Amino acid sequence: MSHTKQTSVKLVLLGEAAVGKSSLVLRFVSNDFQENKEPTIGAAFLTQRCTIGSKTIKFEIWDTAGQERFANLAPLYYRNAQAALVVYDITKPASFIKARRWVNELRENANKNIIIALVANKYDLVLSEESGEEVDGARKVSIEEGQNLADEEGLLFFETSAKTSYNVNEVFMAIGEKIPDNA
Ligand code: GDP
Repeated sequence: MSHTKQTSVKLVLLGEAAVGKSSLVLRFVSNDFQENKEPTIGAAFLTQRCTIGSKTIKFEIWDTAGQERFANLAPLYYRNAQAALVVYDITKPASFIKARRWVNELRENANKNIIIALVANKYDLVLSEESGEEVDGARKVSIEEGQNLADEEGLLFFETSAKTSYNVNEVFMAIGEKIPDNA
């Protein structure tokens, strides 16, 4: 019998509607993607275990749909969260401004030691299908803007694609690595 420790981690997703929050969770939990996803109504709750070195982390993931309309309910979701993904869409500058606001709100109201990952999603949209290189002008939020916010606020930072699965597992693994053993 193995004696790997299992640690439960409450993780919430925050970010403007349609940036790909549910899609990131679907990729992480089911390794799947849906091109025209039905929006999540209310809140979705999913769990996923993953092993990091000698630790087993059980992510308890809260995908908080409808937060734009019910912003005053958000504290119910992020209260007691040990981790948060703040997601934006690199082709939508307004979603980056919104992400900055979510980071500020978490810093003011969430657990002091919450682990926050800033997630710049839809990376696939800025790549050329032929060359695989970035298409000039396709990206509307630069890597530097994301990285600077992450550096200022002490956040993990990843550019991801829920569509191609680029960096999706890496986000969760990086959070898992920062969870203390005795959590
Ligand atoms: P949410 O409202 O933030 O949960 O966003 P959804 O996960 O519902 O995604 C909104 C739309 O964006 C859906 O049509 C998804 O298929 C699409 N989408 C999500 N992630 C990506 C991505 O990484 N790349 C592309 N091209 N589309 C994505």
